[in-house]
Amino acid sequence: MFARIAVNTKSSKRDDLFTYEIPEEIRDVICVGQLVIIPLGNRSVNGIVIGIEKTKPEFETKKILKIVDETPIVDNEKIELARFISEYYWCGFSQALFAMLPINLRKRKTKILRNDSREAVKDPGHPYGCHSNFQLNSAQEKALEKINNAIDDKKAKTFLLHGVTNSGKTEIYLRACAEALEVNLGHPMSGIPGHWMSGGSGGCIYIVPEIALTPQAINRFEEVFGKDQVALIHSGLSISERLKTWIDIKTGKKNIVVGSRSAIFAPLQNLKIIIVDEEHDLISFKSDQTPRYELHTVAEKLAELSGSVLVFGSATPLVTSYAKVVSGEWEYLSLPDRVACPGQPGGDNSIPPQVKIVDMSSPAHNASHNEAGREGVFSDYLLQALELVLKNKKQALLFLNRRGMASFILCNDCKKVSMCESCDSNLVYHSIDNSPYGIPQSGNSASGGIIPQGKLWCHHCGRKYPVPVKCGVCGGLDFRFLGRGTEKIESEIRKYFPQARIARMDRDTMTSDLKYQEIFEKYKKGEIDILVGTQMIVHGWDIPSVDLAAVISIDESLLMPDYSSEEKVFQLLTQLTGRTGRSNARGMMILQTINPDLAVFENVVKNDYLSFVKRELALREKFSYPPFGRMVKLSLGGMNGDLVEKKAEDMANKLKNLEIKKLKEARVEIVGPISPLVEKKYNRYWKNIILKFVETRGGASKDGKTHGRVSLREELLNLVPKEWAIDIDPLTLF
Ligand SMILES: [Zn+2]
Ligand SMILES: [Zn+2]
Repeated sequence: MFARIAVNTKSSKRDDLFTYEIPEEIRDVICVGQLVIIPLGNRSVNGIVIGIEKTKPEFETKKILKIVDETPIVDNEKIELARFISEYYWCGFSQALFAMLPINLRKRKTKILRNDSREAVKDPGHPYGCHSNFQLNSAQEKALEKINNAIDDKKAKTFLLHGVTNSGKTEIYLRACAEALEVNLGHPMSGIPGHWMSGGSGGCIYIVPEIALTPQAINRFEEVFGKDQVALIHSGLSISERLKTWIDIKTGKKNIVVGSRSAIFAPLQNLKIIIVDEEHDLISFKSDQTPRYELHTVAEKLAELSGSVLVFGSATPLVTSYAKVVSGEWEYLSLPDRVACPGQPGGDNSIPPQVKIVDMSSPAHNASHNEAGREGVFSDYLLQALELVLKNKKQALLFLNRRGMASFILCNDCKKVSMCESCDSNLVYHSIDNSPYGIPQSGNSASGGIIPQGKLWCHHCGRKYPVPVKCGVCGGLDFRFLGRGTEKIESEIRKYFPQARIARMDRDTMTSDLKYQEIFEKYKKGEIDILVGTQMIVHGWDIPSVDLAAVISIDESLLMPDYSSEEKVFQLLTQLTGRTGRSNARGMMILQTINPDLAVFENVVKNDYLSFVKRELALREKFSYPPFGRMVKLSLGGMNGDLVEKKAEDMANKLKNLEIKKLKEARVEIVGPISPLVEKKYNRYWKNIILKFVETRGGASKDGKTHGRVSLREELLNLVPKEWAIDIDPLTLF
């Protein structure tokens, strides 16, 4: 007898399965899914049995050395899922399979699971549902009923839960999980604690973009189901905590998995529901290393394999997700109304916040414009609104998607911008101690006695440079600091409101999850009046006394050469708007822009997702962008820019010449080579080639096997050397 084995090795081959002979003494116990030790070269390494066959292969085989654990560490679902990932994402089967396991389990040489692994705790005696006693509104009831019915049907089904911000999605998630677990949450309104009902319980996965950024939803899960039932999976866990969590789930001690992207691979038994919250956050859901999987695709396959219910929830669903509703693959559930805040009874907070667009190109709106004769940062309108917020003892959020004090440092004599020596990227000025003293005025010369403190940072490689005293090109001594980041906004706003308590949240200040928690708690308690920040402040917080959110500037984001840039802007503005007006007062979002007439802004003002998504889908269809076209990005990097360029040219030509007829049949377009936005990173030069697979409407199949593309994939893989990185469904083309 022989076994097909997935091997945990950094094999350079994309076909990374091996065949080994099963020795006599373990023939009776060996089965698919077991972790085994096998000889490979002169080492012994771990492998997972993925198939057993009788026929002797034509080549020489070695024998399996031993079985680590008789209890299989992966089940058939996971093996099938790995097969799917390797086919869809063009990576090795073993790479996909081992990526699902905790790192220290991948190399484990000794037994880890007891044979009686099903010691599930059925009645931990915890008062479940103690906080789940408020009444759902009719839209919530309707959505929950559909999800619950699907759970009871025990068949795979996918829902898109489109709920405006503050529409009570979390309550639906909690109750749907209770249904899957067969936990009685107690009668709504009664306040009577629920209890486990007798009978088998199922498994639930609840995934959020970043666990540290969504503390409130996580707390609700722990409150309702008990900390001892909820397994948290996130990047903050140590290697040994990861393994312990994995064992707790695998042995049935914990049935609810809450975590970030990789929680999808949790070894739950009897999976019944997968929930992906804030599903629009693609950047968090796409893996940036091999296998470069994306959560939507993997979750859909897992739901199909396990017959579970899948719920994608968001206030701003992805265009590609809505397309699945249009094609009839997913069912659309809508929560159009904001719900009353718990603890804030009587108030009418069902009115959506107001969105105010301020035209920054018009001098009338611009306070500092008049003063200094330059384009200012804050409009009069925003300053007045902030004053009112402070007067009413409420809170405000100020958003800018750029860190640092100044984005460019320019020599006034030769006009050269300070650049990173390792990257094709301008350096950003950061003041180190964060004090408002010694900081050069934006646009002002730093000369005249004051040498600014701080450092220049490369935002691509993280390398730091001293602030220049003398221009490296012309020897000039006069520098200009241009472009403002969050750090600058913070120091400017301090000047306008010296009494206000102001804090900043971006990657410079949030050096750990703990720091983040600290600022979040302070803000929640009302100990911070104005919070300045990047993307981090946009996440699903629910803080009642936030009356105002403002976008300092968004125009640069719309200039990005990216087919989804409008979608990202729509998401960001809508999400930020949703952070306001959660108490009795109506919230407000102020958007400062120099392009006030854009259609996407009108959609935001009217809170009109459907108009946005329909326009966006029409545009994408016209240019064959996802979901109407699928993209494969090939990237090559190297120290020698000329060589990279030549290799990329050669590859593009080879691809274009590759049986043109075949490409046409499969409707594949080859674009490139193109230069990424930052062509030189960490001293390496990069080139991309894009393969665009045009889909016919409704022609995109889940396994990507349309138009004989599997054979085409094999051919392409043979053509493209391993030094090229392959990214299926890349987030950006540049
Ligand atoms: Zn110069
Ligand atoms: Zn750099």
